[in-house]
Amino acid sequence: MVKLDRETWDAARLRVQLLGWYKCNQRDLPWRRSRDPYAIWVSEIMLQQTRVAVVVERYQAFLERFPTLISLALAPEQEVLALWSGLGYYRRARMLHKAAQFVAEQHQGNLPNSADDLRALPGIGAYTAAAIASIAHGQGVAVVDGNVERVLCRLAGWEASGRKGGAALRRDIEELAAHLLDPEHPGDFNQAMMELGATVCTPRNPQCLVCPLSARCKTRGEHKTTPRPRMLSREVAHALSVRMSPNPGTGPGSREVLLEQRPQSVTVMPGLWELPALPDAAVAQQDLRMTVRHAIMQVNYYVRIRTVFEDDVPALTVPGGERRWVPLYEAATMALTGLTRKVLSRAHLLTVVPLDAIAESPEIDVL
Ligand code: SF4
Repeated sequence: MVKLDRETWDAARLRVQLLGWYKCNQRDLPWRRSRDPYAIWVSEIMLQQTRVAVVVERYQAFLERFPTLISLALAPEQEVLALWSGLGYYRRARMLHKAAQFVAEQHQGNLPNSADDLRALPGIGAYTAAAIASIAHGQGVAVVDGNVERVLCRLAGWEASGRKGGAALRRDIEELAAHLLDPEHPGDFNQAMMELGATVCTPRNPQCLVCPLSARCKTRGEHKTTPRPRMLSREVAHALSVRMSPNPGTGPGSREVLLEQRPQSVTVMPGLWELPALPDAAVAQQDLRMTVRHAIMQVNYYVRIRTVFEDDVPALTVPGGERRWVPLYEAATMALTGLTRKVLSRAHLLTVVPLDAIAESPEIDVL
Protein backbone atom coordinates (compact mmCIF):
# COMPACT_ATOMS: atom_id res chain seq x y z
CA MET A 1 0.00 0.00 0.00
CA VAL A 2 1.22 3.46 -0.78
CA LYS A 3 1.90 5.75 2.17
CA LEU A 4 0.00 8.91 1.45
CA ASP A 5 1.99 11.94 2.45
CA ARG A 6 -0.71 14.29 3.66
CA GLU A 7 1.43 17.40 3.08
CA THR A 8 2.32 16.41 -0.43
CA TRP A 9 -1.24 15.44 -1.13
CA ASP A 10 -3.02 18.47 0.21
CA ALA A 11 -6.22 17.22 -1.28
CA ALA A 12 -8.27 20.29 -0.41
CA ARG A 13 -5.98 22.63 -2.35
CA LEU A 14 -5.69 20.29 -5.27
CA ARG A 15 -9.49 20.06 -5.49
CA VAL A 16 -9.88 23.82 -5.58
CA GLN A 17 -7.23 24.18 -8.29
CA LEU A 18 -8.55 21.37 -10.40
CA LEU A 19 -12.22 22.31 -10.13
CA GLY A 20 -11.41 25.97 -10.82
CA TRP A 21 -9.55 24.99 -13.93
CA TYR A 22 -12.35 22.65 -15.01
CA LYS A 23 -14.99 25.32 -14.59
CA CYS A 24 -13.16 27.63 -17.01
CA ASN A 25 -11.74 25.09 -19.45
CA GLN A 26 -14.12 22.16 -19.79
CA ARG A 27 -15.29 21.34 -23.28
CA ASP A 28 -18.96 21.83 -24.00
CA LEU A 29 -20.00 18.22 -24.59
CA PRO A 30 -23.62 17.12 -24.90
CA TRP A 31 -23.51 14.48 -22.14
CA ARG A 32 -22.30 17.10 -19.68
CA ARG A 33 -25.67 18.80 -19.95
CA SER A 34 -27.47 15.75 -18.59
CA ARG A 35 -27.78 14.05 -15.22
CA ASP A 36 -29.80 11.20 -16.69
CA PRO A 37 -27.97 8.01 -15.63
CA TYR A 38 -28.97 6.26 -18.87
CA ALA A 39 -27.57 9.08 -21.05
CA ILE A 40 -24.36 9.16 -18.99
CA TRP A 41 -24.07 5.39 -19.32
CA VAL A 42 -24.39 5.59 -23.12
CA SER A 43 -21.77 8.34 -23.34
CA GLU A 44 -19.31 6.50 -21.11
CA ILE A 45 -19.56 3.32 -23.17
CA MET A 46 -19.17 5.25 -26.44
CA LEU A 47 -16.16 7.17 -25.14
CA GLN A 48 -14.23 4.00 -24.41
CA GLN A 49 -11.80 3.67 -27.34
CA THR A 50 -13.44 6.29 -29.58
CA ARG A 51 -12.51 9.91 -30.20
CA VAL A 52 -14.73 12.56 -28.62
CA ALA A 53 -15.47 14.28 -31.96
CA VAL A 54 -16.90 11.06 -33.36
CA VAL A 55 -18.85 10.30 -30.18
CA VAL A 56 -20.54 13.72 -30.18
CA GLU A 57 -22.13 13.02 -33.56
CA ARG A 58 -23.17 9.44 -32.85
CA TYR A 59 -24.31 10.08 -29.26
CA GLN A 60 -26.95 12.58 -30.31
CA ALA A 61 -28.28 10.36 -33.09
CA PHE A 62 -28.31 7.36 -30.75
CA LEU A 63 -30.25 9.17 -28.04
CA GLU A 64 -32.71 10.60 -30.54
CA ARG A 65 -33.54 7.07 -31.65
CA PHE A 66 -33.25 5.49 -28.17
CA PRO A 67 -34.14 8.27 -25.72
CA THR A 68 -34.79 5.88 -22.84
CA LEU A 69 -33.34 2.66 -21.55
CA ILE A 70 -36.60 0.88 -22.37
CA SER A 71 -36.56 2.05 -25.98
CA LEU A 72 -33.03 0.66 -26.31
CA ALA A 73 -34.01 -2.63 -24.67
CA LEU A 74 -36.93 -3.11 -27.08
CA ALA A 75 -34.92 -2.38 -30.25
CA PRO A 76 -33.62 -5.15 -32.53
CA GLU A 77 -29.87 -5.69 -32.21
CA GLN A 78 -29.26 -4.89 -35.87
CA GLU A 79 -30.79 -1.47 -35.39
CA VAL A 80 -28.61 -0.82 -32.35
CA LEU A 81 -25.54 -1.83 -34.35
CA ALA A 82 -26.61 0.43 -37.22
CA LEU A 83 -26.75 3.42 -34.87
CA TRP A 84 -23.34 2.40 -33.53
CA SER A 85 -21.79 2.49 -36.99
CA GLY A 86 -18.61 4.56 -37.08
CA LEU A 87 -17.83 4.12 -33.38
CA GLY A 88 -16.11 0.77 -33.80
CA TYR A 89 -15.75 -1.93 -31.14
CA TYR A 90 -19.25 -3.21 -31.81
CA ARG A 91 -19.04 -5.56 -28.86
CA ARG A 92 -19.72 -2.51 -26.69
CA ALA A 93 -23.04 -1.93 -28.47
CA ARG A 94 -24.07 -5.55 -28.00
CA MET A 95 -23.18 -5.45 -24.31
CA LEU A 96 -25.01 -2.16 -23.81
CA HIS A 97 -28.07 -3.57 -25.52
CA LYS A 98 -28.04 -6.77 -23.46
CA ALA A 99 -27.53 -4.86 -20.23
CA ALA A 100 -30.46 -2.56 -21.11
CA GLN A 101 -32.65 -5.62 -21.64
CA PHE A 102 -31.51 -7.02 -18.28
CA VAL A 103 -32.33 -3.76 -16.49
CA ALA A 104 -35.68 -3.55 -18.24
CA GLU A 105 -36.59 -7.08 -17.13
CA GLN A 106 -35.03 -7.19 -13.65
CA HIS A 107 -35.14 -3.54 -12.48
CA GLN A 108 -38.27 -2.19 -14.17
CA GLY A 109 -36.05 -0.15 -16.50
CA ASN A 110 -34.33 1.81 -13.71
CA LEU A 111 -30.57 1.74 -13.36
CA PRO A 112 -29.49 1.22 -9.74
CA ASN A 113 -28.08 4.30 -7.98
CA SER A 114 -24.97 2.99 -6.26
CA ALA A 115 -21.69 1.99 -7.88
CA ASP A 116 -21.80 -1.42 -6.17
CA ASP A 117 -25.26 -2.20 -7.51
CA LEU A 118 -24.35 -0.92 -10.96
CA ARG A 119 -21.31 -3.19 -11.03
CA ALA A 120 -23.54 -6.17 -10.43
CA LEU A 121 -25.15 -5.58 -13.83
CA PRO A 122 -23.80 -7.42 -16.87
CA GLY A 123 -21.47 -5.28 -18.97
CA ILE A 124 -20.86 -2.54 -16.38
CA GLY A 125 -17.36 -2.50 -14.91
CA ALA A 126 -15.82 -0.49 -12.07
CA TYR A 127 -15.04 2.53 -14.22
CA THR A 128 -18.49 2.86 -15.78
CA ALA A 129 -20.24 2.21 -12.46
CA ALA A 130 -18.20 4.92 -10.71
CA ALA A 131 -18.82 7.39 -13.53
CA ILE A 132 -22.61 6.89 -13.50
CA ALA A 133 -22.90 6.86 -9.69
CA SER A 134 -20.77 9.98 -9.17
CA ILE A 135 -22.03 12.08 -12.09
CA ALA A 136 -25.72 11.17 -11.97
CA HIS A 137 -26.16 10.60 -8.21
CA GLY A 138 -23.28 12.43 -6.56
CA GLN A 139 -21.91 9.30 -4.93
CA GLY A 140 -18.34 9.69 -3.62
CA VAL A 141 -16.60 7.08 -5.73
CA ALA A 142 -13.46 7.86 -7.71
CA VAL A 143 -13.28 7.11 -11.41
CA VAL A 144 -10.01 5.62 -12.61
CA ASP A 145 -9.76 5.39 -16.37
CA GLY A 146 -6.63 5.53 -18.51
CA ASN A 147 -6.53 9.33 -18.38
CA VAL A 148 -6.85 9.49 -14.60
CA GLU A 149 -4.28 6.75 -14.16
CA ARG A 150 -1.77 8.65 -16.27
CA VAL A 151 -2.34 11.95 -14.43
CA LEU A 152 -1.97 10.34 -11.00
CA CYS A 153 1.15 8.38 -11.96
CA ARG A 154 2.78 11.56 -13.24
CA LEU A 155 1.70 13.59 -10.23
CA ALA A 156 3.12 10.99 -7.87
CA GLY A 157 6.17 10.12 -9.95
CA TRP A 158 5.16 6.49 -10.26
CA GLU A 159 6.47 4.61 -13.23
CA ALA A 160 3.77 2.52 -14.83
CA SER A 161 6.49 0.05 -15.83
CA GLY A 162 8.49 0.39 -12.62
CA ARG A 163 9.45 -2.15 -10.03
CA LYS A 164 5.92 -2.67 -8.74
CA GLY A 165 3.65 -5.24 -10.23
CA GLY A 166 0.62 -4.00 -12.13
CA ALA A 167 -1.89 -4.97 -9.42
CA ALA A 168 0.06 -3.18 -6.65
CA LEU A 169 0.40 -0.05 -8.72
CA ARG A 170 -3.27 -0.18 -9.57
CA ARG A 171 -4.15 -0.37 -5.87
CA ASP A 172 -1.95 2.64 -5.17
CA ILE A 173 -3.59 4.61 -7.95
CA GLU A 174 -7.07 3.76 -6.71
CA GLU A 175 -6.14 4.72 -3.15
CA LEU A 176 -4.71 8.04 -4.28
CA ALA A 177 -7.75 8.72 -6.48
CA ALA A 178 -10.07 8.03 -3.55
CA HIS A 179 -8.00 10.28 -1.27
CA LEU A 180 -8.05 13.20 -3.69
CA LEU A 181 -11.73 12.89 -4.67
CA ASP A 182 -13.82 15.88 -3.67
CA PRO A 183 -16.63 14.49 -1.47
CA GLU A 184 -18.73 17.60 -2.12
CA HIS A 185 -18.50 17.43 -5.90
CA PRO A 186 -17.47 13.90 -6.84
CA GLY A 187 -19.05 13.99 -10.32
CA ASP A 188 -17.37 17.24 -11.33
CA PHE A 189 -14.08 16.18 -9.77
CA ASN A 190 -14.05 12.90 -11.66
CA GLN A 191 -14.88 14.64 -14.91
CA ALA A 192 -12.20 17.26 -14.22
CA MET A 193 -9.52 14.60 -13.72
CA MET A 194 -10.55 12.86 -16.93
CA GLU A 195 -10.65 16.20 -18.78
CA LEU A 196 -7.18 17.11 -17.55
CA GLY A 197 -5.83 13.81 -18.83
CA ALA A 198 -7.61 14.16 -22.15
CA THR A 199 -6.68 17.76 -22.91
CA VAL A 200 -3.59 18.78 -20.87
CA CYS A 201 -1.79 15.77 -19.39
CA THR A 202 -1.92 13.93 -22.69
CA PRO A 203 0.04 10.73 -23.33
CA ARG A 204 2.63 12.06 -25.76
CA ASN A 205 2.88 15.78 -25.19
CA PRO A 206 1.65 16.97 -21.78
CA GLN A 207 1.10 20.74 -21.56
CA CYS A 208 2.78 21.22 -18.18
CA LEU A 209 3.06 24.99 -18.58
CA VAL A 210 -0.72 25.40 -18.46
CA CYS A 211 -1.46 22.55 -16.07
CA PRO A 212 -3.31 23.63 -12.91
CA LEU A 213 -1.50 20.93 -10.91
CA SER A 214 2.04 21.54 -12.12
CA ALA A 215 3.23 22.98 -8.78
CA ARG A 216 2.62 19.65 -7.06
CA CYS A 217 3.58 17.37 -9.93
CA LYS A 218 6.72 15.26 -9.48
CA THR A 219 7.34 14.75 -13.17
CA ARG A 220 6.32 18.03 -14.78
CA GLY A 221 8.19 18.82 -17.97
CA GLU A 222 9.90 15.45 -18.08
CA HIS A 223 7.70 13.86 -20.69
CA LYS A 224 9.14 14.13 -24.13
CA THR A 225 6.96 13.97 -27.16
CA THR A 226 7.16 10.47 -28.49
CA PRO A 227 6.33 9.58 -32.07
CA ARG A 228 3.13 7.74 -32.77
CA PRO A 229 3.56 4.01 -33.41
CA ARG A 230 4.11 3.29 -37.07
CA MET A 231 0.99 2.32 -38.93
CA LEU A 232 1.03 -0.84 -41.01
CA SER A 233 -0.39 -0.84 -44.52
CA ARG A 234 -2.60 -3.35 -46.27
CA GLU A 235 -4.27 -3.34 -49.65
CA VAL A 236 -7.67 -4.94 -50.23
CA ALA A 237 -10.46 -4.65 -52.80
CA HIS A 238 -14.25 -4.85 -52.65
CA ALA A 239 -17.06 -5.01 -55.19
CA LEU A 240 -19.67 -2.29 -55.50
CA SER A 241 -22.60 -3.88 -57.25
CA VAL A 242 -25.80 -1.88 -57.73
CA ARG A 243 -28.86 -2.85 -59.78
CA MET A 244 -32.38 -1.62 -60.42
CA SER A 245 -34.82 -3.30 -58.10
CA PRO A 246 -36.68 -6.18 -59.78
CA ASN A 247 -39.50 -5.70 -57.28
CA PRO A 248 -42.04 -3.22 -58.69
CA GLY A 249 -43.36 -2.71 -55.17
CA THR A 250 -40.28 -0.69 -54.25
CA GLY A 251 -41.25 1.98 -56.79
CA PRO A 252 -39.69 3.33 -59.98
CA GLY A 253 -36.03 4.25 -59.89
CA SER A 254 -35.31 2.35 -56.69
CA ARG A 255 -31.94 0.67 -56.63
CA GLU A 256 -30.40 -2.11 -54.62
CA VAL A 257 -26.83 -2.77 -53.52
CA LEU A 258 -25.32 -6.19 -52.92
CA LEU A 259 -24.24 -6.64 -49.30
CA GLU A 260 -22.78 -9.58 -47.45
CA GLN A 261 -23.21 -10.29 -43.75
CA ARG A 262 -20.09 -11.21 -41.85
CA PRO A 263 -20.53 -14.56 -40.09
CA GLN A 264 -21.46 -14.49 -36.38
CA SER A 265 -18.55 -16.84 -35.74
CA VAL A 266 -15.84 -14.32 -36.64
CA THR A 267 -14.28 -12.20 -33.91
CA VAL A 268 -14.01 -9.04 -36.02
CA MET A 269 -17.33 -7.25 -36.60
CA PRO A 270 -19.59 -10.33 -36.48
CA GLY A 271 -23.02 -9.82 -38.03
CA LEU A 272 -22.19 -6.53 -39.74
CA TRP A 273 -22.89 -5.97 -43.43
CA GLU A 274 -20.21 -5.14 -45.97
CA LEU A 275 -19.44 -5.07 -49.67
CA PRO A 276 -18.34 -8.44 -51.09
CA ALA A 277 -14.59 -8.90 -51.22
CA LEU A 278 -12.56 -9.32 -54.39
CA PRO A 279 -9.85 -11.99 -54.41
CA ASP A 280 -7.10 -9.66 -55.57
CA ALA A 281 -6.25 -6.20 -54.21
CA ALA A 282 -5.09 -5.13 -57.67
CA VAL A 283 -7.86 -3.60 -59.78
CA ALA A 284 -7.29 -2.48 -63.36
CA GLN A 285 -7.55 1.29 -63.80
CA GLN A 286 -10.53 1.06 -66.14
CA ASP A 287 -12.48 -0.95 -63.52
CA LEU A 288 -11.59 1.25 -60.55
CA ARG A 289 -14.56 3.15 -59.06
CA MET A 290 -12.68 4.74 -56.17
CA THR A 291 -9.86 4.26 -53.70
CA VAL A 292 -10.51 4.72 -49.99
CA ARG A 293 -8.13 4.83 -47.07
CA HIS A 294 -9.55 3.32 -43.92
CA ALA A 295 -7.71 3.00 -40.61
CA ILE A 296 -8.44 0.11 -38.28
CA MET A 297 -6.35 -0.03 -35.14
CA GLN A 298 -2.71 0.27 -36.28
CA VAL A 299 -3.42 -0.67 -39.88
CA ASN A 300 -4.07 1.67 -42.77
CA TYR A 301 -6.16 -0.13 -45.33
CA TYR A 302 -5.93 1.09 -48.91
CA VAL A 303 -9.17 -0.14 -50.35
CA ARG A 304 -9.91 -0.32 -54.06
CA ILE A 305 -13.55 -0.39 -55.02
CA ARG A 306 -14.52 -1.97 -58.30
CA THR A 307 -17.91 -1.66 -59.95
CA VAL A 308 -19.18 -5.19 -60.64
CA PHE A 309 -22.25 -5.88 -62.74
CA GLU A 310 -24.81 -8.27 -61.28
CA ASP A 311 -24.06 -11.07 -63.75
CA ASP A 312 -20.34 -10.92 -62.96
CA VAL A 313 -20.72 -11.14 -59.17
CA PRO A 314 -20.34 -14.95 -58.85
CA ALA A 315 -17.19 -15.04 -60.96
CA LEU A 316 -15.45 -11.97 -59.56
CA THR A 317 -16.13 -12.01 -55.82
CA VAL A 318 -15.14 -14.21 -52.91
CA PRO A 319 -18.11 -15.57 -50.94
CA GLY A 320 -17.77 -14.81 -47.23
CA GLY A 321 -21.28 -14.95 -45.77
CA GLU A 322 -24.96 -14.52 -46.52
CA ARG A 323 -25.64 -12.09 -49.37
CA ARG A 324 -28.64 -9.89 -49.98
CA TRP A 325 -29.68 -7.32 -52.54
CA VAL A 326 -30.70 -4.46 -50.27
CA PRO A 327 -32.72 -1.38 -51.28
CA LEU A 328 -30.54 1.69 -50.79
CA TYR A 329 -33.01 3.33 -48.45
CA GLU A 330 -32.80 0.23 -46.24
CA ALA A 331 -29.00 -0.02 -46.41
CA ALA A 332 -28.71 3.37 -44.73
CA THR A 333 -30.34 1.98 -41.60
CA MET A 334 -28.45 -1.32 -41.47
CA ALA A 335 -25.48 -2.31 -39.32
CA LEU A 336 -22.83 -1.61 -41.95
CA THR A 337 -19.11 -1.75 -41.39
CA GLY A 338 -17.53 1.67 -41.24
CA LEU A 339 -15.74 1.06 -44.54
CA THR A 340 -18.95 0.08 -46.32
CA ARG A 341 -20.77 3.13 -44.98
CA LYS A 342 -17.89 5.32 -46.11
CA VAL A 343 -17.86 3.85 -49.64
CA LEU A 344 -21.63 4.05 -50.11
CA SER A 345 -21.59 7.60 -48.80
CA ARG A 346 -18.84 8.70 -51.17
CA ALA A 347 -20.66 7.03 -54.05
CA HIS A 348 -23.75 9.11 -53.08
CA LEU A 349 -25.73 5.95 -52.47
CA LEU A 350 -26.53 6.72 -48.81
CA THR A 351 -28.54 9.76 -47.95
CA VAL A 352 -30.02 9.22 -44.49
CA VAL A 353 -27.35 8.93 -41.80
CA PRO A 354 -25.01 11.91 -41.22
CA LEU A 355 -21.55 10.83 -42.15
CA ASP A 356 -19.09 13.68 -41.78
CA ALA A 357 -17.67 12.49 -38.48
CA ILE A 358 -17.47 8.89 -39.66
CA ALA A 359 -15.64 9.77 -42.85
CA GLU A 360 -12.88 11.48 -40.90
CA SER A 361 -12.60 8.99 -38.07
CA PRO A 362 -9.96 6.29 -37.78
CA GLU A 363 -12.39 3.50 -37.17
CA ILE A 364 -11.66 0.74 -34.75
CA ASP A 365 -13.70 -2.17 -35.90
CA VAL A 366 -12.34 -4.94 -33.70
CA LEU A 367 -14.75 -7.18 -31.76
S1 SF4 B 1 2.45 19.04 -14.69
FE1 SF4 B 1 2.55 18.00 -16.64
S2 SF4 B 1 2.93 15.83 -16.19
FE2 SF4 B 1 2.25 16.83 -14.29
S3 SF4 B 1 0.05 16.45 -14.21
FE3 SF4 B 1 0.33 18.45 -15.19
S4 SF4 B 1 0.45 18.04 -17.40
FE4 SF4 B 1 0.70 16.09 -16.31
